[in-house]
Amino acid sequence: MKNVLITGASRGIGAQTARLFAEKGYNVFINYNLSPDAAGKLCSELTDKGLSAAIIKADVSDPDQVRSMFAEINELCSGIDILINNAGIAQTKLFTDITDDDWNRMLSVNLSSAFFCCRSALPYMINKKWGRIINISSMWGQVGGSCEVHYSAAKAGIIGLTKALAMEEGLSGITVNCIAPGVIRTDMTSHLSNEDFSALKEETPTGTIGTPGDIAGAALFFAAESSAFITGQVLGVNGGFVV
Ligand code: NAP
Repeated sequence: MKNVLITGASRGIGAQTARLFAEKGYNVFINYNLSPDAAGKLCSELTDKGLSAAIIKADVSDPDQVRSMFAEINELCSGIDILINNAGIAQTKLFTDITDDDWNRMLSVNLSSAFFCCRSALPYMINKKWGRIINISSMWGQVGGSCEVHYSAAKAGIIGLTKALAMEEGLSGITVNCIAPGVIRTDMTSHLSNEDFSALKEETPTGTIGTPGDIAGAALFFAAESSAFITGQVLGVNGGFVV
């Protein structure tokens, strides 16, 4: 059974990805930071069905906590086969209002976290000559979002990390890919009004708003054995909003 670590899996896209991977027979580690109850409830939902899941706390923007998380995981299983760097935060602010703290927090949660987790996950994957790293970016990392310069910069950084790491790890049987979601209904977009959602739907070729399941399905695709020849790619899952 392959072991999957999904960062930021207590809620939203990460939680739905944990559900899908568990249902498909993977052993799932649900990372959380500030939502222990939600993570615990999700874990019980899965284990009550006889599926394989465990929760693991870490603020993934903190390198020491990431090291401890991997040490804990390595006591529970042989190592992580599939790493999904999903944890993220967003903030809408005029560029001129972004403080040093806003900038540093955005970059550390959305980008440095992926560096810390890849660094800890790779030795096992390299040794096994098999691995999958799936990074969650955003369409705003592809085209830039107004009033989200720090978020867009972090998400563009995720795309750069993905492409460069894919070059380095190909011969080790490890693929590194990226998903760039469009607008997805989660807590992250709960500040948007019904009017906002209607306007976004009108701008989207499919005429719909995305669901966490749409992103989970893309992650499952990249994780598959049959996706071994796909690496360094950015898959837009956005209803055609950005092409
Ligand atoms: P969400 O509903 O707000 O959930 C965010 C998740 O990230 C939570 O599980 C949260 O865990 C976790 N998290 C935040 N900071 C963390 C930290 N320092 N350490 C560990 N976990 C942390 O967001 P979402 O919409 O599911 O977003 C998931 C990913 O998709 C993010 O990277 C986001 O940027 C990206 N994305 C989302 C959309 C969208 O429209 N929703 C679009 C494009 C990209 P705790 O609550 O336990 O702290």
